[in-house]
Amino acid sequence: MVQTGRQAEKRKGRAASPGLASGPVVPIEDVAPRTEAMTAVAADPAAELASLAQALEGASSQLAALIDRVDADAAEMLEFQLAMIEDEELSAPAVAAITDGAAAPVAFAAALDAAIAGYLASDDDYFRARSADLSDIRDRVLRLLADPGMAERRESPKGAILVGVDITPSRFLEVDWSAGGAIALAEGSPSSHVAMLARARGVPMVTGLGVLDIDERAVAIVDGETGTVWFDPDAAMQAEHEALRARRAHEADAARAYLDKPARTACGEAVSVMVNIAEPDEVDGIDPAHCDGVGLMRTEFLFHGPGGLPDEETQYRAYRKVLEWAGGRSVTIRTLDAGGDKPVPGLTIAEANPFLGCRGIRLSLLRPGVFRVQLRALARAAVHGNLQVMLPMVSRPEEVGRAGELFDACIAELRAEGVEAVRRPPLGIMVEVPCVAITPERFLAADFFSIGSNDLTQYVMAAGRDSAEVAEIGRADDPAVLALVEATVRAGEAAERSVSLCGDAGSDLDVLPKLLARGVRRVSIAPAALARVKASIAAMRLDTDG
Ligand code: PEP
Ligand code: MG
Repeated sequence: MVQTGRQAEKRKGRAASPGLASGPVVPIEDVAPRTEAMTAVAADPAAELASLAQALEGASSQLAALIDRVDADAAEMLEFQLAMIEDEELSAPAVAAITDGAAAPVAFAAALDAAIAGYLASDDDYFRARSADLSDIRDRVLRLLADPGMAERRESPKGAILVGVDITPSRFLEVDWSAGGAIALAEGSPSSHVAMLARARGVPMVTGLGVLDIDERAVAIVDGETGTVWFDPDAAMQAEHEALRARRAHEADAARAYLDKPARTACGEAVSVMVNIAEPDEVDGIDPAHCDGVGLMRTEFLFHGPGGLPDEETQYRAYRKVLEWAGGRSVTIRTLDAGGDKPVPGLTIAEANPFLGCRGIRLSLLRPGVFRVQLRALARAAVHGNLQVMLPMVSRPEEVGRAGELFDACIAELRAEGVEAVRRPPLGIMVEVPCVAITPERFLAADFFSIGSNDLTQYVMAAGRDSAEVAEIGRADDPAVLALVEATVRAGEAAERSVSLCGDAGSDLDVLPKLLARGVRRVSIAPAALARVKASIAAMRLDTDG
């Protein structure tokens, strides 16, 4: 890498997509042609309305063409934009302003800016993240208003590090990432659509770097695992990068050898290693032979689609896809865990302390109409594989009983409707509220236990999982958390209930030996961590580790 004599700078942001890349800095262009070029008033409203209609039509056909080129998950995201463009409500304020004499670009920019501000002001991560889709639409339409014949596709140099305030999903999809590259953003969010796309395609990405002065920048290194970006690195930083790259490459190579073997410790103990997924499409990138099934499928994603709450058929198809991918391997699907850090507009309740409020099974039992749709879909999907259903945030034994009764009622209802292909799968619980881990013997109505170390830790240590300030306090290897993990494992053994652990502690190589030392033999982890977790298990001796 050529050092340019510019001031070297190391910045820390939020890790949004893992991986390490270096390359030339390419600014993410300020995509919306604005200001001087845009006159505020227009002489002929009819002509302005016609040019807005033409630009909207052009934007729709550009998106439709892009949808044809990309894969299913990207297409789904672009379809959301297409639906927004085609929704007359979006452009209605612009049409009104044009009718009153405003120029089309000014009117459309103002209408979209207002809509974006509304999304950004939301308390909900989902809506804030969707504001990028609206910016994307605004900029595309403004470009077309400025230049109706504008070409759809903009080329970026291969291996470039795209740097800017934020990046739109369609801009991301225009880039050929096959030759490497990465993204570094002043703003942005790890839960944005773009971050999801970046993770799915293995493009390193860091968000939240703060104000960036990129005009003078030539090269950058992005480490999406630690959220670090080096601009115009000096010799010492380049050496640091080289060492990091060599270490990561070596670790990845060594670990890959363990991928298709069952996990076993150095002293011969078998450990079941499953994966956590949040979307059915994630399994497309995973070889089922590399894991022992799905230990946790979160279902919150289904409730965040543009169409509101998902119907039975949509859910059934999502669950069936994962079950068929897994073959006969076990698949544990968790019922909706909305609330806490995962609000669902129109479903969750506004509370002063949502982590201690109506989340998970508490909310499902409060909204049986919504819960029944999910249980019916699960009962129908169960015949396509080895399904287990899991309830989140259980804190009282009767919650298991009531969920079980509802499940039975749904199955009876389906049969009465003539749907014979249904099955009641085992019904288990997350052990993530301390009262369950302290007295697990009261919860034997559950067919299995899965320890949610993320929530268990935050509740045991009184340290919010979303607070960087108390991250050091909220450690999953605190002796108190480990004691509850061990108590749960022992209770499971005594009552012949399988016990797994599906929180992030299972992918943490510093904590994992301590979990195994306390009897954990089933973990469910991030798919990207499969190779290194299996490799690290192979090196463990349970008689000495932890
Ligand atoms: C957990 O709490 O550990 C867990 C796996 O659930 P989630 O992170 O979805 O709350
Ligand atoms: Mg949890």
